[in-house]
Amino acid sequence: MTITRSEELTITTKELLMCLHKMAEVLEANREYLTSLDAAIGDADHGINMDRGFKAVLAKLPSVEDKDAGTILKTVGVALVSTVGGAGGPLYGTAFMQAGMAVAGKYELEPQDVLAALDAALKGVVMRGKADLGDKTMVDALTPAVNALRRALENGSGLTEALEQAAAAAEQGMKDTIPMLAKKGRASYLGERSIGHQDPGATSSYLLIRVMADVARELQTQQEP
Ligand code: ADP
Ligand code: MG
Repeated sequence: MTITRSEELTITTKELLMCLHKMAEVLEANREYLTSLDAAIGDADHGINMDRGFKAVLAKLPSVEDKDAGTILKTVGVALVSTVGGAGGPLYGTAFMQAGMAVAGKYELEPQDVLAALDAALKGVVMRGKADLGDKTMVDALTPAVNALRRALENGSGLTEALEQAAAAAEQGMKDTIPMLAKKGRASYLGERSIGHQDPGATSSYLLIRVMADVARELQTQQEP
């Protein structure tokens, strides 16, 4: 990491790789939790899917560790699409592939690049899954996160603070899925019975953004005297 202007973090590809490793760790640790959420309104595989997908990602990362951030993120997306079935794999796969396109060729990500990547990820999920806000999906965690990140950067916050706000917004978005009636994916088959349960995909989205905020915080702290 280098600090450019007043405490502005930039994320190197090495740090991006570290972040992806941490995402895999957190998904492994939350495998049962995510699966139990999916047991209530789906088919009890979301934690298994995400863990399997990110294990496949970890196996692929060594082959791209010298590449640009775009190539790394696209590789993550392809690994997810090709190893995870159901809705989650293609949706997260598209998200990472689109994020990769947004930062193609870059070896260092500035705060605006992180915003562009997350925004592209969200647009990818919406393009692929056609979910609206309020349909009780990962879109309900990702949308407030991207909005909070954009707002914080516009207001002059550094990346660490902006990602912290994005994680807080994603957490709120995740909790807000509890009273929602599912309109997309397997949970929608339950109709009214989907009400009262937290959406698994919104939960994994929150966990991934939480990792981004934690990694940024860690890098920032390391740099401070
Ligand atoms: P599956 O539903 O095929 O078993 P997962 O269990 O891995 O796949 O993922 C379920 C999650 O996928 C849901 O909790 C929801 O957040 C998300 N999801 C499902 N359909 C859509 C969609 N059309 N758009 C966005 N997210 C969706
Ligand atoms: Mg499922």
